[in-house]
Amino acid sequence: MPEAEEVYPSLLSKANEVAQFFKNSAREDRFFHIFSHIDADGIASASIICGILSELGAPFQLRCLPQLTSYNIEEVCEQVRENSVVVFTDFGSGQGELIAHVSKKQGCQIVIVDHHPPTGSKPSCCLEINPCLEGLDGTVHACSASIAFLVAKSLNTFYREAAELAILGALGDRQDCGDKGSLTGLNQLICEEAERMGILERKIGLRLFGFETRPLVKALEYTTDPLLPGLTGDEGACLKFLKSIGIPPQDNGEWRSASDLTRDEMRRLVTSLIKYLISKGADVNEAERIVGYVYTFPSEPADTPLRDAREAASLLSACGRMNAWSIGVAICLGDREEALMEALEVLKSYRKLLSQLLNELFSGDKLARKGIIYSFHLEDKVDEKVLSAVTSCLFSPSRFEDNSILVGFVNTPLYVKVSARCSPKLARRGFHLGQAVGKAAAAVEGEGGGHSTAAGAQIPLGTEEAFLEALSREARE
Ligand code: C5P
Repeated sequence: MPEAEEVYPSLLSKANEVAQFFKNSAREDRFFHIFSHIDADGIASASIICGILSELGAPFQLRCLPQLTSYNIEEVCEQVRENSVVVFTDFGSGQGELIAHVSKKQGCQIVIVDHHPPTGSKPSCCLEINPCLEGLDGTVHACSASIAFLVAKSLNTFYREAAELAILGALGDRQDCGDKGSLTGLNQLICEEAERMGILERKIGLRLFGFETRPLVKALEYTTDPLLPGLTGDEGACLKFLKSIGIPPQDNGEWRSASDLTRDEMRRLVTSLIKYLISKGADVNEAERIVGYVYTFPSEPADTPLRDAREAASLLSACGRMNAWSIGVAICLGDREEALMEALEVLKSYRKLLSQLLNELFSGDKLARKGIIYSFHLEDKVDEKVLSAVTSCLFSPSRFEDNSILVGFVNTPLYVKVSARCSPKLARRGFHLGQAVGKAAAAVEGEGGGHSTAAGAQIPLGTEEAFLEALSREARE
């Protein structure tokens, strides 16, 4: 596989092609429709495109969706005006047939900015920019927002904002798989650029959300990546934890933060957290990941979730999952007033919901097992958009054996939404979860796809068992 530096010139030249097309279309006064995924990378990449189009003075409309599927493609077509440009971000590459359908039916020009493995042949009028097409691994080395950043860079438009959003997108997609939780590939090159611009600081530290700026107890409570089982979302448990390791959470009635700790207290906090995670089932390597690269945006307000890049990504993710993606977009486009206040409320409800669902799944015997596949079903308890966050939080390779696959299901009125995760170790042995899930979904007349370690599908109602059977066959092969 080539290094990001090697493919950077060809990616940039493709980005330049997209940039020039945007410019010419804006000059012709063509209308732009943007359709994007509702996760943090989807919101960040779509926002970069919106930022660019705004600066070019082009009229546009954005809609975020849980996925582009045959279930919603007609609805997408209905919204598209004649002679318009349709931009798909963070999906589209893996939905060749659906894209061809939109293009044929509406006679529009299509642009795809994606990092999912491309499938199916795209219509000739389609401009597609995707790291996988240049031989770069889109699972870890580049996300849609980092590709959209290259378009902004080519135009020198919305450039600084795009760098920050690219980093958010990559962290939201959990692409921080390098040494000590670092970003790699194209994402790493963008981090270096952002550091030169003075908008990013990187250092090794405790990976607690807002650790440098927040009261300790809040940093523990708010951290969801990595998840701290029993502490995340529970202020009382975090207070108890700090007291139990001899670190007073307050000093003279003032909440203490990282800068108030003595060297000895800091050492104690790190070792106690590692021991705590091991006691909750993490293996040593995973527990030690609590120490790693912390990404901070120094110009963002210190007391908000936007300062710590991982926390900012989880704020966007919360907006997307709680039907508030437009609030996320407003923040990405610079709103630090009303949108931020609203997003904080959304985040509060999201954390509560997530911790309630995870507590239910952690306690009790909610996981079924068939060979190497573990599964759970949320019935119709939550919106389908929350399932993928639950699956990601629940899946930690140490909780499941190296070769395991975790599959979550939730019912929607039209189909069952599937979300699946496996460990990078399994992917390194040649297993591609996205392909396996795609084949298993097709076997039950559904559709699916995704990356080597994270995949999703939509399958007909009532076909969960048959899907698991088919996935199990794929995994055996
Ligand atoms: O839905 P979830 O986030 O679990 O999906 C994991 C990955 O699989 C995402 O990157 C998503 O875009 C991708 N996916 C896909 N095709 C689907 C469903 C999900 O490529 N039908």
